Amino acid sequence: MKSKRLAKALAENLLALGVNEIVTEAEASAILANYGEGTASPEGENLSREATIRREAEIVNKCRACSLGIQRAHAVYGDGNEFAEIMFVGEAPGAEEDRQGLPFVGRAGQLLNRLLEQVGLKRSEVYICNLLKCRPPENRDPLPEELVACRPYLDKQIAIIKPRIIVCLGLYAAQAILDTKEAMARLRGAHHKIGDTVVIPTYHTAAALRFPAYKQQIYDDLCRARDLAYG
Ligand code: URA
Repeated sequence: MKSKRLAKALAENLLALGVNEIVTEAEASAILANYGEGTASPEGENLSREATIRREAEIVNKCRACSLGIQRAHAVYGDGNEFAEIMFVGEAPGAEEDRQGLPFVGRAGQLLNRLLEQVGLKRSEVYICNLLKCRPPENRDPLPEELVACRPYLDKQIAIIKPRIIVCLGLYAAQAILDTKEAMARLRGAHHKIGDTVVIPTYHTAAALRFPAYKQQIYDDLCRARDLAYG
């Protein structure tokens, strides 16, 4: 009887923390063991791009590859057009993203929306995601082990969407995508390519909320991305 009451209290605490699904260690290991390259499902069937993205998001929803997986309210896989020419990669979900399960919906996201509108891009025509799919506590910087654990999901996302342009929002995204330790001042404006994909590093819109002068630079970089994609 006592253990039943304890279990109920524990469940209520977890719900209050926003934990809405429990995956056992064995289930988490099975998910990671099945996680491979390509867009075929584990059963070998060929899925549409939309279905593949949905399946990937479901896998991420159950991920426990790092400790962020047990702290999140929602995993934030990505949002937008699966056939986008331009993909935006940010750092990690913040509080609002964690609450809604969608990337860039907080203040930094609203600024991104405004800048997209100013350069004539619709949010619904681009694809937006992050390096990390779960929110780091107190919005701290991503840890190296979290970046390593989450990277296969991003690589697969890029392989599915096949964007012509990747815009890296912020230093973490730029350094991770370009596999470099260079500073933003050196990365921004230079010509970068991974395979056929052009990579455009720019400032994070969260940084532009603190330092408004960055807005013009992000605007210029978005114009470049638009012209390369559609010009
Ligand atoms: N900052 C990010 O890097 N990503 C988000 O989704 C929100 C804020």
